[in-house]
Amino acid sequence: MRFEGRAALVTGAAGGIGAAIVRQLRAEGARVAVADRDVTGIDAEAHLPGDLLDPAYADGLALAARGALGGLDIVVNNAGVITRGPVTDTTDADWSLSLGVNVEAPFRICRAAIPLMAENGGGAIVNVSSCWGGKAPGPNHAIYCMTKAAIASLTQCMGMDHAHQGIRVNAVCPNEVNTPMLRTGFARRGFDPDTAVAELGRTVPIGRIAEPEDIADVALFLASDAARYMCGALVEINGGKPVS
Ligand code: NAD
Repeated sequence: MRFEGRAALVTGAAGGIGAAIVRQLRAEGARVAVADRDVTGIDAEAHLPGDLLDPAYADGLALAARGALGGLDIVVNNAGVITRGPVTDTTDADWSLSLGVNVEAPFRICRAAIPLMAENGGGAIVNVSSCWGGKAPGPNHAIYCMTKAAIASLTQCMGMDHAHQGIRVNAVCPNEVNTPMLRTGFARRGFDPDTAVAELGRTVPIGRIAEPEDIADVALFLASDAARYMCGALVEINGGKPVS
């Protein structure tokens, strides 16, 4: 029960990785506020539905979570969107969506959460970046990779700037994970998701792509006291398949 007495906010809580993080935090004693566009049916102590593209919603989430839970010790900025293609195929809408969800929303949430955590003596923020962009360039996903590089850089800078307040900011950088984000991408391109996931798994030295729980375990480690000396780290989770 590493998180007994702790209060956590998790964005993208209805998605693959977010749902696993929520389940595991609660299983280890945390009280959790879940944020996503639709949080119906998610077991949690507080439900804060909304659209992260709405600046007022993103600005207010940390305070709303603290109000609902009676504290705020952990924030997991997990929500994300993927846009595919080179810059020449990128629309203005793709640009705004990617920057809005993957970079601006976590910026707004961190900006609001950090003073609340500092008032209370500290806390832990875990951002979800990616091997793609967060660690190395990836092909044919220029804007997605750029946003994940941006959140990785923001993580490193915030990790440095807020360590003195007892606030540790770190990020996980997964490679391919078996979630709706990946599976709907396969389906949109005309592939059977189960077959495509199995084939992709054969390209990973460990023999399979990640499951959401593989990422959640590392996110929870970073949120826990066991990671007490980690500030601004970008932790690659790749099954032996780096992107470089
Ligand atoms: P997912 O699509 O299953 O979940 C993403 C969640 O974010 C969804 O529930 C969605 O509703 C929410 N979200 C998106 N836009 C939103 C908005 N405007 N307002 C509120 N909520 C919004 O995807 P996932 O694979 O679980 O992704 C979680 C994180 O992991 C993302 O940041 C993603 O970039 C990152 N990631 C995923 C993979 C992968 O292979 N699946 C790899 C590396 C990194």
